[in-house]
Amino acid sequence: MKKSVGMALVMVTVMLIGTNVVPSAFAANTIPLLGFAWNHTTLTYSINAGKNVDPAAVTATNDAIAAWDTAINGGSKADFNLVPAPSGTQGDIRIFLKVGTGVVLGSAQTFTNSDGSAKYSKVTLSGKAFGDPLGHDPVETIAIQEFGHSLGLGHSSEPSDPMYGTYNGVKLAPSACDVTAFDAVEAWYPGTFHPPTVSSVTC
Ligand SMILES: [Zn+2]
Repeated sequence: MKKSVGMALVMVTVMLIGTNVVPSAFAANTIPLLGFAWNHTTLTYSINAGKNVDPAAVTATNDAIAAWDTAINGGSKADFNLVPAPSGTQGDIRIFLKVGTGVVLGSAQTFTNSDGSAKYSKVTLSGKAFGDPLGHDPVETIAIQEFGHSLGLGHSSEPSDPMYGTYNGVKLAPSACDVTAFDAVEAWYPGTFHPPTVSSVTC
């Protein structure tokens, strides 16, 4: 989404529960970009756990962030880092864990400035992620995807990729293609900020 004036909202919602695991080992993996980029390299995050949220879900969320941090540091944008926001403050990426019902596992909303830079992003992890005993690994899988949206990635076409839009199994690390997509999002770095110049990457 691009807007010329004021603050825009890029929203990617609905990670649904699905059972359709479709192997496609030889298909290309296409990941759309959401159109914004972060204009600084140290990205802060905050985790807000609601009432009755299992502390294990917080651990799984932290593990998802660590997995992204590791992946980014291994790529060509190694100067990008994910660090906790100072205590009592909200980060660039604000994660809210809520107990709820329904089939929506997570959503991500990113508010952007007129130059296409991200202002802040809000991730909500909810519903059956905590309403059912999904356990650590599924929660981490869901958190990896939603955090990926906050980093500017849309839904992958490849079912084995954690950015695939339907939950179809445990995936505990961003894929190499996810890192390629992140590099395309932050193509301005190092240099003068500009939003992504391509709308998708195919690996
Ligand atoms: Zn998603």
